[in-house]
Amino acid sequence: TKQVYSFGPDGTEGRSDMRELLGGKGANLAEMASLGLPVPPGFTISTAVCAHHTETGGYPEGLTDEVREALAKVESRVGARFGDPKNPLLVSVRSGAPASMPGMMDTVLNLGLNDETVRGLADKAQDERFAYDSYRRFIQMFGDVVLGIDHSRFEEALELYKEEHGYNLDTELTADDWKALIEQFKQIVEDETGEPFPQDPEQQLWKAINAVFGSWMNQRAVTYRRLHNIPQNWGTAVNVQAMVFGNMGDDCATGVAFTRDPSTGDNEFYGEFLPNAQGEDVVAGIRTPQPLTTHAKQKNDSDLPALEETMPSVYRQLHDVRQKLESHYRDMQDIEFTVQRGTLYMLQTRTGKRTARAALTIAVDMVKDGIITESEAVERVSPASLDQLLHPTLDPEAEREVIARGLPASPGAAAGVAVFTADRAEELSQAGTDVILCRTETSPEDIHGMHAAKGIVTARGGMTSHAAVVARGMGRPCVAGAGQLRIDEQQRRMIVDGVTVKEGDTITIDGAAGEVIRGKVPTVKPELSGEFATFMGWADRLRELGVRTNAETPQDARTAVEFGAQGIGLCRTEHMFFESDRITAVREMILAESEEGRRGPLARIEPMQRQDFVDLFRIMAGFPVTIRLLDPPLHEFLPREDADMHEVAQAAGMTVDQVRARALKLTEANPMLGHRGCRLGITYPEIYEMQVRAIFNAAADVAEETGETVEPEIMIPLVAVAKELEILRGLVDRVASEVMKDRGTRIAYKVGTMIELPRAAMLADAIAKHADFFSFGTNDLTQTAFGISRDDAASFMPTYQSQGILSTDPFISLDQDGVGKLVEMGAREGRRSNPALSLGICGEHGGDPDSIGFCQGTELEYVSCSPYRVPIARLAAAQAAI
Ligand code: ADP
Ligand code: MG
Ligand code: MG
Repeated sequence: TKQVYSFGPDGTEGRSDMRELLGGKGANLAEMASLGLPVPPGFTISTAVCAHHTETGGYPEGLTDEVREALAKVESRVGARFGDPKNPLLVSVRSGAPASMPGMMDTVLNLGLNDETVRGLADKAQDERFAYDSYRRFIQMFGDVVLGIDHSRFEEALELYKEEHGYNLDTELTADDWKALIEQFKQIVEDETGEPFPQDPEQQLWKAINAVFGSWMNQRAVTYRRLHNIPQNWGTAVNVQAMVFGNMGDDCATGVAFTRDPSTGDNEFYGEFLPNAQGEDVVAGIRTPQPLTTHAKQKNDSDLPALEETMPSVYRQLHDVRQKLESHYRDMQDIEFTVQRGTLYMLQTRTGKRTARAALTIAVDMVKDGIITESEAVERVSPASLDQLLHPTLDPEAEREVIARGLPASPGAAAGVAVFTADRAEELSQAGTDVILCRTETSPEDIHGMHAAKGIVTARGGMTSHAAVVARGMGRPCVAGAGQLRIDEQQRRMIVDGVTVKEGDTITIDGAAGEVIRGKVPTVKPELSGEFATFMGWADRLRELGVRTNAETPQDARTAVEFGAQGIGLCRTEHMFFESDRITAVREMILAESEEGRRGPLARIEPMQRQDFVDLFRIMAGFPVTIRLLDPPLHEFLPREDADMHEVAQAAGMTVDQVRARALKLTEANPMLGHRGCRLGITYPEIYEMQVRAIFNAAADVAEETGETVEPEIMIPLVAVAKELEILRGLVDRVASEVMKDRGTRIAYKVGTMIELPRAAMLADAIAKHADFFSFGTNDLTQTAFGISRDDAASFMPTYQSQGILSTDPFISLDQDGVGKLVEMGAREGRRSNPALSLGICGEHGGDPDSIGFCQGTELEYVSCSPYRVPIARLAAAQAAI
């Protein structure tokens, strides 16, 4: 089979769709050459050769002949010969894998130079300085990349030489200076390798090819691939290409450009160049690069002349290339170019990396210009990246004094005064102060404080810790597990590396970077209108899945509606029970020994609960609202602090000791599998009765007030046995009809269950007989299918992932193989026994793009996710439908 593919002005064998075989660089060099763009001729040795080389250390048969032939073609196209002392061809040897791995593998320029050919080059270019400058660069790069000599050895020698001769810039060195340095460089090579610098170009070439193939397996590259999910067996290609020179004088240059601005997406040519320079000089930051356009020059108030001014005709050519590449690739390109004595050469093009904002702007502009379709635009923006656009972010221009780092648990930025307890957070925020809640870790009791806070910091915990999950759910920025922080709740302060932050001191957190910063860093607000709205409108037209939100507070509900939620898919009523105005009544109810004892406090809670629902129904008017009846183990509500015990004792007319004893009795060994969910409804029906009454009265209230109908969907949690649902459905229907009769109105409603236990999925057909809907509660379903507690997974999950036992965290992305089977079974069996059954998913997975793809495949009707995930889910659902 063919192993070497030529490219150049007359005859190109590769194409851009051959990137697997030719690597991205090789495939696009071929494509550009075919488009008639000025690409220096060369050839690509395929990735298949790399695989062979990695396995055997050698090369497949016939490779040397193919390389020799391809090289001969380059020689005749350029009109120079490799190794010819009078008229030498020089080449670059460049790596290029199928997936871009920036800075991971290496390139050698000016290969083919030796003590003889350098003189030929000098004569040919009529520029001795240029030739020796190129030769010393070659020895440096070859020494570093191929011979493994630390590049600082060469740099130090160069610096020392400059110092001794009173030079500041490399450009000040003369041909004789470079000659002297070349002698030193060759000595360094001999000292380091025990052999003289290789003079035979043929040998140089193969050593370089070897080194590039070898670099595929270097530690850096292997790690990079693991982190970015690039298969280890792909291999890199090697590109050998005739050199063009940007360092032959002031009519030469080298540069990089983006066909549009990669940070804003503006349709402006954006780039930098250096006159009289070669290759990596622009990126290396040796000299300050100059802008391409006069527009950019003015915008950035730069003193340096633009390419447009200094080389207008080259600029015009480059501008044409920009047009050609964009209309051909139909996407923003990132290009490399070199100008040799006034002639432009193209050395690379690839799809340019961009910020989320730029991705959106470019996609929308390209649709407006008729370059791509709406559905192509929708496919081009990564759903997860939208997150960057939804939260305020730190002003990138501002300075930041980072005092601690943790995990980027929930994106966005926030500033406020540090507080160390949830209560204090609530107090200060009610007084109008922005606060950042800093805890060693958080628990469900901190919810009110997390809500009150602008941002959350924890010293312990991972990406799926309570703080992280709740913060993401609430759209609060969060830095989790900032291990250097010592939080002293008693003294109201925290200490980091000797710095003390007291309550009231202002800090800023960057949840996307995982940084805790001293003082207030200014933020910039997100922009949800304009392009964002246009783009999301396209996504909405394409998607089939509905998108609802998980919300229980008016604020979350409002945010979600702004973000495009079509109803509430999960309202967790227990969060309402933690509110400060009723927690005592809730505790009193739980601690009561009898139904009688519970009825009193329940009666006090009912109007508050009713008001909660009135608020939600108003905001969600016209949309369905799924309300889950009380779910968590009662012990979660128990008083722990002495002060709380006293308060409850007083309210309930008990002694503190009685309260303590009763609390002890309610303590469970395994609360997650304990007295919770529908089991509460079965044993204490008066709780569910109160909730259902509150819901239907609220629905009647809002219908009377606004004339808008709401659609309550009552969800019974943790059903494992059909009988449980049968009984509780009976309860709901009975209370609902009582209220409706009482209020003289009809309210359309549904009763359904959360499928969150494996048994429920397996017996979905029986359960569906009593249900109008199923909502897959994939958080608990994952916990119960794996037998892993989400709250305790952090201690072993990282090991499981690094050993490849689990490729992703199943609490973040649905385990489609296992848990997914249960979902499929539940959906199929449920529909079979009850064709009218409606199906959705709630839980963290409802906002995860991969999991949403799975939901589309399983033909669910909707996903429900936290408010800040709603736009992500809308886009992911559209992509899943395309
Ligand atoms: P990377 O993938 O790190 O960008 P490249 O192979 O693209 O590495 O090359 C590094 C630098 O050398 C780039 O600036 C590129 O434009 C330049 N370069 C590569 N080949 C040539 C060549 N044949 N002539 C002139 N410059 C070249
Ligand atoms: Mg490059
Ligand atoms: Mg559950």
